[in-house]
Amino acid sequence: LQSRLPHVGTTVFSTMSALAAQHGAVNLGQGFPDFACDRRLIDAVDAAMRADHNQYPLMAGVPALRQAVAAKIAALYGHGYDADREITITAGATQGILTALLAVVHPGDEVIVLEPCYDSYAPNIELAGGRVVRVPLNPQTYRPDFDRIAAALSPDTRAIVINTPHNPSATVWTEAEMRQLEALLAGSEVLVVSDEVYEHMVFDGASHQSAARFPGLAERSFIVSSFGKTYHVTGWKVGYVAAPAALMAEFRKVHQYNVFTVNTPMQHGLASYMADPAPYLDLPAFYQAKRDLFRAGLTGTRLRLLASEGSYFQCVDYSEISDMADADFCAWLTREVGVAAIPMSAFSVEAPVQRVIRFCFAKTEATLQRALDKLASL
Ligand code: PMP
Ligand code: GLN
Repeated sequence: LQSRLPHVGTTVFSTMSALAAQHGAVNLGQGFPDFACDRRLIDAVDAAMRADHNQYPLMAGVPALRQAVAAKIAALYGHGYDADREITITAGATQGILTALLAVVHPGDEVIVLEPCYDSYAPNIELAGGRVVRVPLNPQTYRPDFDRIAAALSPDTRAIVINTPHNPSATVWTEAEMRQLEALLAGSEVLVVSDEVYEHMVFDGASHQSAARFPGLAERSFIVSSFGKTYHVTGWKVGYVAAPAALMAEFRKVHQYNVFTVNTPMQHGLASYMADPAPYLDLPAFYQAKRDLFRAGLTGTRLRLLASEGSYFQCVDYSEISDMADADFCAWLTREVGVAAIPMSAFSVEAPVQRVIRFCFAKTEATLQRALDKLASL
């Protein structure tokens, strides 16, 4: 059998979690919380099941949840999406991104990704028959380089995938950067897939710059988010996509033959839970405290802390400790120190090699302290 994805193996998240388990290491690799979600959310889903919301929902998702999403986007980012025609509930952000790309990419189209980037984008583009055009972020700051993005645009460019707050680097795009992208794409037909799964995790008083805030971006964007990140339920795999009606109509053509619908009781539970904005409005302070605890604990080590402006990741440069390649360093760290991390190189093909690894701090204070006790030897 000829593989559709010949250069793809098992994702680094699965392999590092397996290695962490094998060595009994503290798993700060794969990004997921190790604490419970709000019991009120579980009660809301439980109530939905008991109310017999257990059959297929509408293809685009439970209306109450789409309305709650539209209301949230309008309140936070000032853009009104029509819940009937412009929002679709997906099986996590992963499906949202894949479905958006399958819906718009034709064989031979080019899609720009900014490296390092989340590992599903490139295989998704390839499955859609597109050609991945890799543009590096600035290798020191991980900020977008608009000259390089401009140089990568061609008549074949169908779309660009962006991600803020950024996995893995934890940078957050500024309003000025979003405006630069908006200006760059003005007058073109280039679409945007805007991965905003960490939208509610932005620190130090900064605010999330959703593509929805910028009319010139909103009109060409699929905005993707994930309840898994926002409500500490990554295993539920429920997310959503917002896009202008014409784009969403194409999205739904694929969605209906991709997953058709997403599980019903979770959607009802999420819809009623979303009535209270406090859980997502409290998230920046909640995660900033974890970030600060983790950073403070690493200051005595030879790990050099990179900025963490948003998301639940903290990257560090370990070049004072070792000149091992980052994947080898992560394996060594898991085996010998007892803490698992993710190598930065897992997020790029062409970006320059660096001595940088990513930790996830979406963990209880006790877990973070256990990891810090081990890392103190560095
Ligand atoms: N995009 C990014 C940047 C992510 O970090 C993740 C989390 N793995 C996803 C998409 C996928 O989110 P979900 O679990 O909702 O599919
Ligand atoms: N988004 C998470 C991460 O970047 C988990 C991804 C996954 O397990 N596929 O670690």
